[in-house]
Amino acid sequence: MDRRKAQLSAMMALVLLVPSVIMVLSANSSVNANGLVDNDAPSGPWDQTVWTRYRDLDDTENELRVLSGSYPDICRLYNLSAMFPYPAGSPRYSVHNRTIWGLKISDDPDMNDTSEPEVFYCALTHAREWISNEVLMYFINYILRNYAYNSSISSMVNSTQLWFIPIVNPDGFKESMDRDDFNNSYGLYGWRKNTNETNGSPGFQNYGSAQGDGTDLNRNFGYKWGYPGSSTNPNYPTYRGSSAFSEPETQMISELFKARDFKMALSLHSFSGLNL
Ligand SMILES: [Zn+2]
Repeated sequence: MDRRKAQLSAMMALVLLVPSVIMVLSANSSVNANGLVDNDAPSGPWDQTVWTRYRDLDDTENELRVLSGSYPDICRLYNLSAMFPYPAGSPRYSVHNRTIWGLKISDDPDMNDTSEPEVFYCALTHAREWISNEVLMYFINYILRNYAYNSSISSMVNSTQLWFIPIVNPDGFKESMDRDDFNNSYGLYGWRKNTNETNGSPGFQNYGSAQGDGTDLNRNFGYKWGYPGSSTNPNYPTYRGSSAFSEPETQMISELFKARDFKMALSLHSFSGLNL
């Protein structure tokens, strides 16, 4: 498969999967004891259609560990915080010392086969966009569990190098989950940013409507940093941070991009219903 076709097939596979995941989470029937993915290796093609709740931080990390252990020939789990230390010798954790994990899927995951284009996927840059993690975790499961049974999947894995960061913003995601954003009065206006101390008042402030401390990680990248649509007010939901790449979470993505040669990048969001 040539590079262009490989990129398109990687993208199309994800696009085709998105509607089914959204349907899945509106379903209300029970399946596995934990409501999530059955960790047993499948004996045939896999297409789980019912999950009963959103993954939290621990669910996601544990599942990535199980999957990387179950499919060692085609994936590798990377502790990106350890891979890109800052300052020298110290892991680059999130603001509140959480590890950021990355999963690579390819037919020879330890090798950087430069003849195979690299593709980057990430989710949960914005804390309240829980479904973005579900979409990516479904995609990861679908690829790994169907590799042995689906020739489209195997040819995609064999001809590309796919990198995933399902949770870019672990601190903000935990805040959003702990406050149960979707079941309280904040509803659609749940937590968006990371949880860095930005507004000068001691302690972490969450004033609701995603206001208070924190930096909007999606407004913190160097490319066009400071552009209209981002805020200089540390209490605003779109606060862009004190400088480009001021936050460890965005630094991490920058370091990974410097180390790799991504031909396509897809950052999943869910709040506005936009396809940008
Ligand atoms: Zn978003």
